[in-house]
Amino acid sequence: MPLSIETKCLHLEKTEKLDEAAACLHYGAISFPIYQTATYAHPGVGKSTGFDYSRLQNPTREQLEKIICALEHGTDAVALSSGMAAIALLMEIFKPGDHLIVDSDLYGGTIRLFDNVSIKNGINFTRANCANDEVEALIKPETKAIYIETPTNPMMNVTDIQAMAEIAHRHNLLLIVDNTFMSPYFQTPLDLGADVVVHSGTKFLAGHNDTLAGFIIVKDEALKEKLRFLIKTTGSGLPPFDSWLVLRGIKTLAVRMEKAQENAAKIVEWLKTQKCVTKVIYPGLSEHPGHKVMKKQSRGFGAMVTFRLNTVEKALNVLEKVRLIKYAESLGGVETLITYPTTQTHADVPEELRLKNGITPETLRLSVGIENADDLIADLAQALKD
Ligand SMILES: *Cc1c(COP(=O)(O)O)cnc(C)c1O
Repeated sequence: MPLSIETKCLHLEKTEKLDEAAACLHYGAISFPIYQTATYAHPGVGKSTGFDYSRLQNPTREQLEKIICALEHGTDAVALSSGMAAIALLMEIFKPGDHLIVDSDLYGGTIRLFDNVSIKNGINFTRANCANDEVEALIKPETKAIYIETPTNPMMNVTDIQAMAEIAHRHNLLLIVDNTFMSPYFQTPLDLGADVVVHSGTKFLAGHNDTLAGFIIVKDEALKEKLRFLIKTTGSGLPPFDSWLVLRGIKTLAVRMEKAQENAAKIVEWLKTQKCVTKVIYPGLSEHPGHKVMKKQSRGFGAMVTFRLNTVEKALNVLEKVRLIKYAESLGGVETLITYPTTQTHADVPEELRLKNGITPETLRLSVGIENADDLIADLAQALKD
């Protein structure tokens, strides 16, 4: 019987009794060792331990990549120094003249990369609201891929991954899914037909607001070879210590995701009763337009909540007044964070696009952590009070 995800987060696929050699490997260390080495001695000419130089591969990074690959049901995963490093490396598989259809509501840094760096490399983009628009009509002869987040950051739009994969494959395109918000604990896009999954490992996977990381997970052998060549050549692989931090974070992925989601559901219900809150956007709500699709393709609704206050002043006031909850960028850690997309995560998105996506100056984003829900609600209550 294949291992369940909670177990895989700790044990990979190792269920057989270890033979003596395997048990003695790493001195039987339960915590995977940090191989803080740049290079590796060869036992002889033409012989290798399997490792040559840490830009290519390092045992600690390799262990992390194996776990991520197992969690996302891929054939290979590469670990990079941040989510943006992962997305930037992935863009190197395209060539000048290639065209991508990308969701209009993406993480601000991804939009900045596409608009300022990828475009300079000759890659063209068409933005679409992939949850609603007729994406197939936007496909051109030069189109090579569709790039989505679901739910999107920060507006929580939900795209049907399976339906999008069918469109992509009818036209020989890759479907790329940024799975940061759900983590493989709740959603595994490769099972639904996606070709590539990317992650900001900084968020739920690492989970402790203490390191940056990024991942690309693929199924296709040719793509796997390309990515291995690119990581070796460009050198943005995740260092050993950071790999170890993510390995440690992933051990508790299941319990963190469950607890954070439980807290998020309670906070959402409470926010809905507040007069100064004009809108609560959470895919777990039955009135959310993506609720049905979410139920079909995800095992949960996650711990990200976007909400709107009645005035800009009120929104800014909440950011000033929170105590337990920290006003900070980032998400997916054990500590609850509140973010102001307008000036933080999405500051570099052109204002017109930001407003069109619904990121108004009254909009706040909450990444719910694993504290006690009542303590979090009490903090929000004092911050929302006039
Ligand atoms: C944070 C984030 C990124 C970028 O990842 P970094 O680790 O910060 O470089 C990409 N996509 C999403 C959805 C994110 O939230």
